[in-house]
Amino acid sequence: MGGDRQQRFDPRGQGFRSLAPVADVLARIDATVGPLGVEPVRLADAAGRVLAAETRAAADIPPFDRSAMDGFAVRGRDVQAAGPEAPAALRVIGEARPGRPFSGVVGPGEAVDITTGAPLPAGADAVVRVEATVAAAGLVRVVEPTPVGRHVGRRGEDIAAGTVVLRAGRVLRPQDLGALSALGRAEVPVVRRPAVAVVITGDELLPPGTPAVDSRIADTNSVMLMALIARDGGLARVVGPVRDDRATLRDAIAAAARSADAVLVSGGSSTGAEDHAPGIVADLGTLEFHGVALRPASPAGLGRIGEVPVVLLPGNPVSCLCAYDFFAGRVVRRLGGRASGWSYVACRARLARPIASAVDRVDYVRVLLADGRAEPITSGGASILSSATRADGFLVVPADVPGLAAGDEVVVWRYDPPVGATVS
Ligand code: AMP
Ligand code: MG
Repeated sequence: MGGDRQQRFDPRGQGFRSLAPVADVLARIDATVGPLGVEPVRLADAAGRVLAAETRAAADIPPFDRSAMDGFAVRGRDVQAAGPEAPAALRVIGEARPGRPFSGVVGPGEAVDITTGAPLPAGADAVVRVEATVAAAGLVRVVEPTPVGRHVGRRGEDIAAGTVVLRAGRVLRPQDLGALSALGRAEVPVVRRPAVAVVITGDELLPPGTPAVDSRIADTNSVMLMALIARDGGLARVVGPVRDDRATLRDAIAAAARSADAVLVSGGSSTGAEDHAPGIVADLGTLEFHGVALRPASPAGLGRIGEVPVVLLPGNPVSCLCAYDFFAGRVVRRLGGRASGWSYVACRARLARPIASAVDRVDYVRVLLADGRAEPITSGGASILSSATRADGFLVVPADVPGLAAGDEVVVWRYDPPVGATVS
């Protein structure tokens, strides 16, 4: 358990005797959650997956010397002194095309009509580009000096045999798949995608996208969490909404822990009469943290059932998002072999207004961005999801900072990467 807990009053953590420092929870996640096993995937399915093993080139790419131009394969000695005043006339003895090499040998005074990518014929050591030639019946006149080696792509110039091309942990990009294909890999070893069970709790909840009926409201958290989990490389499965009944919820959480690599529980994570999740995790496994010095997500928790990490997320939608960003997302990314840090793009901005924060508490503050200034959105508490939909991103006030002043430079994590950003 964490060392020095926050003892001061927190309006959203008042049922907790103490709140764990965010850093302690993160450190516990990092110490206990690591990449899952490896599985092979076909190259066509590998984009965005995490490469599990270093890839070394077994052979040279390209595997032969090749022409880099459309023109004529020649012996450089024949044409190194050629020019408009002294053209070199060569006899054209054949053609070389990609996949259809010339099988003969280019001798002195000879040339082979060649196109880009075709293997350089034996005997040739340079390519004269077609623009530097004048065709004549059976002959080609070279009018540009072309030394040995000109316009020849050497075997292994792209990737030399033995080179490390991609390192383990790489999130595979489209061009990486191309390189792997060139290396002759039809399948690649990748880290297994974490199966994440999302247990949604709340008697008041209707299925997502359902109009509210009386005091019953649509579940907002499952769809939000599914999208976040998918973004972080996980495979989400939603359980529920599950009633706020201890036995029912216990069964649901136990079953989820048997069939998933991680369990997230939304709602019922605090200290009230209907908050069964912490006790259930403590019963079925270990509740490592309950109550975190993080606004607006103090009723968050972390535990494990067997080897399966369980993250307790407050039901309030903004709290749920915040606790996912800090804890659950990290668990998902680490299980999947990804970098622990946020998937958000950071930018710098000047704070438009001061932000008050308690020492020892981390604050997750939604902001609007305009003209390089970050405007905190103060009109939204933990239950106001629209504060997060309006926001361009969020900033974090660290635990050791009592607050920020107007004009302070801050780092803003953008919910969306800037589209069409200009390079500056
Ligand atoms: P809880 O954390 O279960 O005490 O819930 C705190 C608040 O968040 C209550 O107003 C709940 O109605 C609301 N809430 C809990 N879960 C969800 C959910 N999945 N979708 C929308 N609101 C929720
Ligand atoms: Mg609830």
